[in-house]
Amino acid sequence: MEYETIQDIDVPKIGLGTWRMEGSTCRNAVATAIDLGYRHIDTAQAYGNERQVGQAIENAAVDREEVFLTTKVWPMHRTHDAIIDSVHESLARLGTNYVDLLLIHWPNPIAATREVMSALSDAQNDGLTRHIGVSNFDEEQLKSAQKDAEAPVLTDQVQFHPYNPQRELLDYCRANDVLLTAYSPLAHGGALHDQILTTLGKKYDKTPAQVTLRWVIQHDGVVTIPKSTSRAHLEENLDIFDFELTETEMELIARPSRIRTGMSMFRGRLGV
Ligand code: NAP
Repeated sequence: MEYETIQDIDVPKIGLGTWRMEGSTCRNAVATAIDLGYRHIDTAQAYGNERQVGQAIENAAVDREEVFLTTKVWPMHRTHDAIIDSVHESLARLGTNYVDLLLIHWPNPIAATREVMSALSDAQNDGLTRHIGVSNFDEEQLKSAQKDAEAPVLTDQVQFHPYNPQRELLDYCRANDVLLTAYSPLAHGGALHDQILTTLGKKYDKTPAQVTLRWVIQHDGVVTIPKSTSRAHLEENLDIFDFELTETEMELIARPSRIRTGMSMFRGRLGV
């Protein structure tokens, strides 16, 4: 496993996303991932699977401290006390007394950023989380969160794949020592049959999924959390550290497209 170091913190480059994983499928996927060497797991209050994620981590043959665990506060919790209460509930479901990273899942236009960030900071001060961050915040929202947080914002978790390369936000994150965590790196499956990724895969003897994930993590300041419930795919998604795309190939792969980005989100919402 390779790591991205940000604010002197080492974050595994590849983690496991768990959106739309439920019950024993989720427990088995997290257990398999840890067994294969994953040390970074991403969940959220909204995924309804914190209990299964926690059980898999507890039953794993590695210590809790070895796993970088993220959860996210659902934005309907918008007051300080509601946020703190929800974090205690998350920790009870996860069966742990801390997470490594606590994010606010989405900006909430009717919540006061100052109150939200102060709740996350208090959760950190109380030892409920090691680090804090945000998700789905654009550059202005991220700046405002940074201004209102007592502690540094470790990451902004956003959609990031060849059709949504987030160039401006990534430039800002790099310049300000903020990690960009790439979600839906495979465009929720939309990158798997891409012609350019398939052609490059043939060159490197890799699958289109591997070329996509390599492209994602070859960006400085970026880690990613692909989701898979298949042992073969989980294994494949880790096997991306033995080849390097050229600068020209990196440019070729990035093709911003609102339609493909929208389709990725649409597939995610439909669960297909
Ligand atoms: P994704 O990781 O881009 O794609 C997942 C899809 O790709 C699944 O259908 C999976 O199927 C398939 N897949 C994975 N590896 C593969 C491989 N090697 N070959 C072929 N197919 C492969 O999509 P995502 O779930 O939307 O995003 C990943 C994670 O990001 C989520 O699980 C979640 O943790 C996070 N996320 C966060 C937000 C947010 O608002 N913060 C939003 C969306 C997602 P199999 O299971 O069959 O392998």
